[in-house]
Amino acid sequence: MSLFRLIPALLVAASPFAVEAQEPTTRQLNLLGWQEFSEIMERGDIETVLVPTGTLEPHGVLPNGSDNLAPQAMAAELAPRLNALVAPTLNYGFTGSFAAFPGNLSISEATYEAFVEEIFAGLAANGFLNIIVINGHGGGQTAVLSRVAERISQEHRVRTLVSNWWSATSDITFEVFGEDGGHAGNNESAYIQAIAPEHVHPERYSADMAEARMAGINAYPFPSSIVLYQEGQGYPDFDPEDAAEYFERVNERMGDLIEDHIRRWNLAGIYRGR
Ligand SMILES: [Zn+2]
Repeated sequence: MSLFRLIPALLVAASPFAVEAQEPTTRQLNLLGWQEFSEIMERGDIETVLVPTGTLEPHGVLPNGSDNLAPQAMAAELAPRLNALVAPTLNYGFTGSFAAFPGNLSISEATYEAFVEEIFAGLAANGFLNIIVINGHGGGQTAVLSRVAERISQEHRVRTLVSNWWSATSDITFEVFGEDGGHAGNNESAYIQAIAPEHVHPERYSADMAEARMAGINAYPFPSSIVLYQEGQGYPDFDPEDAAEYFERVNERMGDLIEDHIRRWNLAGIYRGR
């Protein structure tokens, strides 16, 4: 090995996040060609892939694809810091009580489980060691992603992490807005406003569109597409400064959380050499 090859390798080994041996022309799997992808993986420059997952479902006055747009933007923001590539967003998922709303599109749970399982397996087969799912949609989807991620980890000897970003950062919601959030509430509205303000429509909003789920009541379909986590809290404020602050802090925190998990997997030597 020449000195020129050895030095970057040593730097990368010492600090997997801070120094990259060679910057890829893009971090999006959709945009990389097979030749460059092969070079990246053979050099071992990049071990992590971020996988945005979501669904199409109603979101108050936000886009129906908000659960796709948020993790997709987050993955693009975090990829350089985490030295990761970004898989194409899995834009279809499954929805329960919102399924009757116009524009909703839900596939079955069984189909979803098979779909994500084969995609995660394909990412492992392509050589990624860390498969990091940034999920934008809750409900039953989280449980499916989590059990598939566990199976894939065991079967392919890879490290997997499934994150529900709005939940992992809920303390930031309290700090920025002074109260709890909601589905299509202050927190999610702020994130989408930060990335696609032209597709957020406050002129269509009324507080009557928002409600909290009530203990002892189970309406199907649920009549409101803004679901407050707690009664009386989480109404969107559409304030661009709140949106910018929330976006930045959530991304920073998600970067910290993912980075810390990878650092501890590395420390433990988990699946090094598979
Ligand atoms: Zn959502």
